Amino acid sequence: MDKIKMANPIVEMVGDEMTRILWQMIKDDLLLPYIDLNTEYYDLGLEYRDKTNDQVTVDSALATKKHHVAVKCATITPNAARVKEYNLKEMWKSPNGTIRAILDGTVFRAPIVVKGIEPCVKNWKKPITIARHAYGDVYKNAEMKIPGPGKAELVYTAADGTETRELIHEFNGAGIIQGMHNLNSSIESFARSCFNYALDTKQELWFATKDTISKKYDHTFKDIFQEIFDKEYKEAFEKAGITYFYTLIDDAVARVMKSEGGYIWACKNYDGDVMSDMISSAFGSLAMMTSVLVSPDGNYEYEAAHGTVQRHYYKHLKGEETSTNSVATIFAWTGALRKRGELDGNKELMEFADRLEKATLDTIESGEMTKDLALITTLPNPTVLNSQDFIKAIARRLEA
Ligand code: NAP
Ligand code: MG
Repeated sequence: MDKIKMANPIVEMVGDEMTRILWQMIKDDLLLPYIDLNTEYYDLGLEYRDKTNDQVTVDSALATKKHHVAVKCATITPNAARVKEYNLKEMWKSPNGTIRAILDGTVFRAPIVVKGIEPCVKNWKKPITIARHAYGDVYKNAEMKIPGPGKAELVYTAADGTETRELIHEFNGAGIIQGMHNLNSSIESFARSCFNYALDTKQELWFATKDTISKKYDHTFKDIFQEIFDKEYKEAFEKAGITYFYTLIDDAVARVMKSEGGYIWACKNYDGDVMSDMISSAFGSLAMMTSVLVSPDGNYEYEAAHGTVQRHYYKHLKGEETSTNSVATIFAWTGALRKRGELDGNKELMEFADRLEKATLDTIESGEMTKDLALITTLPNPTVLNSQDFIKAIARRLEA
């Protein structure tokens, strides 16, 4: 059989630990036998990031701007322990943070729904998609420890030198402060990507902030969404029979728990970080979640929503068997391949992505799965497979 050809490359961002191991297995068993894989390769493994002073991360993001489609493996965000473990020159920043800051846009995360893995919130009947703003707020903050009594202020110096000040606090003793920012342009593109995604997938859009407490910062998010909706999307939403709904974040949380799902929940950066892990684990597992960063100028970066699964990696290094779930990483690849196919008019590539996803879900539904799923499945007598055998089981179905 002839392998599927690709006219344009996908930017391939390789990562760390257990997910790096899965990455190679997926390529060897599920992709390379069927596709003449055309990728531009960037090694975001921590060792190479350190060697290049993190330039490789920046380069991979710039390559994504050029080729428009990327697939990323989970990567280590170094902390003090990692600096020691890898003997790093510096505590490099989160690669995802760096890439998102360059690409801008919104991260959409949706649970991968499969028979036999039921959400633990029993009224959730349909997936809930989280749309996470990928720029600014606490992820681009400035922080200070205040050693003792004194005055802390926000100061804005305009281009002409005039200053505007706002008192943060008169300290009587030690304390802490932080400054955050966002950009109207980024919030606008966040809003547009959410409205577009809602129209694309014909789902309602919910958005929530804490505008009653944060009367300027959060209120600006609320206002920008409403203005763009009224001006640009209201009619299209009416035509599609879907709605845009704004509420306070605490009210949204309460409603989400009682809803039956089937909508997109737009969240500010931090809320999206927290809520996507809640949604994914309540739907079954962090490894059963798709994640894609959609940037305003039409770039797509697909990834797994979970980390590098360090605990499993150390077992793997000791030669012990692991049962790590590769579904989110497989779906990162299928997402990227399908998008590449869509942009290039490559139908074969898009159909391959569909087939690989179906083979993956069929494998689980037939009772063959990794340990994390076997522990929670409602299917009787599941077969627990190790990391490699699960991928081989998918390969057998794909072959058939
Ligand atoms: P993690 O890698 O997501 O793993 C946490 C735990 O969740 C695992 O120990 C495992 O539980 C379970 N788990 C996660 N993914 C799984 C999978 N595919 N299959 C089976 N079980 C899975 O989070 P972490 O251990 O806190 O972080 C490890 C590293 O990942 C850190 O260095 C962090 O910086 C990085 N990280 C990267 C990203 C990213 O690149 N997108 C995101 C988050 C974290 P059991 O041990 O109970 O089996
Ligand atoms: Mg997170």
